[in-house]
Amino acid sequence: MNLIERLENRRERSEEERLVLVQVARLADESLAPRAAHYDRTAEFPADNLQAINELGLNAIFVPDAYEGALLPFGTYLECVKLLTRACASTGIIYATTFHAMKPLIDFGSPEQKARLLPRIARGGLGSLVITEPTAGSDATAMRTRFVPDGDEIVVTGEKTFISSGDVSELLLVFGKWSQIDDPRGAITALVVERGASGLSVAGREDKMGMRASSTVTLRFEECRVPRANLLGGPGDGLRILLASLNKSRPSIAAHALGIARAAFDDMVGWMNERRQSGRAIIDFQGNQFLLADLASELVLTEAWLDYVAELVEGDAGAGDYAMEASIAKLRASDLAMRMTTEAVQMHGGYGYIKDYRVERLMRDAKITQIWEGTNQVHRQLIGRHFRAR
Ligand SMILES: Cc1cc2nc3c(=O)[nH]c(=O)nc-3n(C[C@H](O)[C@H](O)[C@H](O)COP(=O)(O)OP(=O)(O)OC[C@H]3O[C@@H](n4cnc5c(N)ncnc54)[C@H](O)[C@@H]3O)c2cc1C
Repeated sequence: MNLIERLENRRERSEEERLVLVQVARLADESLAPRAAHYDRTAEFPADNLQAINELGLNAIFVPDAYEGALLPFGTYLECVKLLTRACASTGIIYATTFHAMKPLIDFGSPEQKARLLPRIARGGLGSLVITEPTAGSDATAMRTRFVPDGDEIVVTGEKTFISSGDVSELLLVFGKWSQIDDPRGAITALVVERGASGLSVAGREDKMGMRASSTVTLRFEECRVPRANLLGGPGDGLRILLASLNKSRPSIAAHALGIARAAFDDMVGWMNERRQSGRAIIDFQGNQFLLADLASELVLTEAWLDYVAELVEGDAGAGDYAMEASIAKLRASDLAMRMTTEAVQMHGGYGYIKDYRVERLMRDAKITQIWEGTNQVHRQLIGRHFRAR
């Protein structure tokens, strides 16, 4: 057992959690990994992967039991994201995106909303988190999508860009501005839009560098009518909901990035032991050992930090303040994914640049982890600002 496996085995888990993780690891190795290159090449939606995930009931592990879920600790969910992502980063992010979109409904929805909507997710429905607009990226508060109340309905008008799974999701958690509130931040409101709502259309699909099998679409809302019963919290509660939700989606993005980093690390170590030059395995060159030592250290420390953040989330009774801890996990895991994959390509020499080797895909998949869920520049600002004397 190497030191990374020792760290993984240190985590205490119930029999049920262990069983789920064994099944997920088997699914990842036997089904997802062999198909990942195909999905990367074709950019087709990996429907068979999602079906297999749903046969294991993996959405249920983040849905409370009262709504047809089978809730497991947050740390176990994060481990599932890592295992799926190690095999296929696109499939990993499709799975995680449903969690990102639905966790606010779980945390802030009314009992009626949860009873009506969550069973669809527990049974395998996908979710999308709908925030970004063409002119509102890092500054999400600049969003222009309007929510106009009209009797028992809310009329949604606007355009959202870069929405993961937006064309295949059952439920979309959409952020917009309540027309009757003037304050630009105070007007932000959250609303669940169901698939097939009149006035909602897919206006385009992106052709991407990586994460190619995860669809990324532009959504157009043209006087889209949504029942007022789907309003999350009240008008103007959106920013509070969004900020609280990011505390849970950022660790999830960190787990996804660590899944990519770990895949690259495994491939790199395998290659360094196998590849011989000047009569030696390339792992026997001291400079390469120094590199490996730095990367392995960074990997275990980031894993350990994410475990710590998972404990904070699990122990949170609702008012936990761990935004900075979550930011640090996202920042370090995504920077590590980029560095690890770049070095893995480098260690493979020319073979690393060839599509026959997985590290080529991993390097492309890694880049977005530094951009989404807050760019790493924004995270560095947030973390730095945390220490400013008032
Ligand atoms: C594949 C993909 C999937 C995505 N999925 C989703 C999704 O499901 N839902 C969703 O809502 N969004 C999604 N996004 C959007 C993503 O979150 C945004 O792209 C990201 O927040 C950055 O916004 P932007 O692209 O508008 O860049 P900009 O905000 O325009 O940033 C451009 C550059 O300026 C820098 N910058 C901006 N502001 C500052 C600042 N204050 N200080 C220092 N530097 C700054 C940024 O760091 C960046 O380098 C996705 C994007 C992609 C590419």
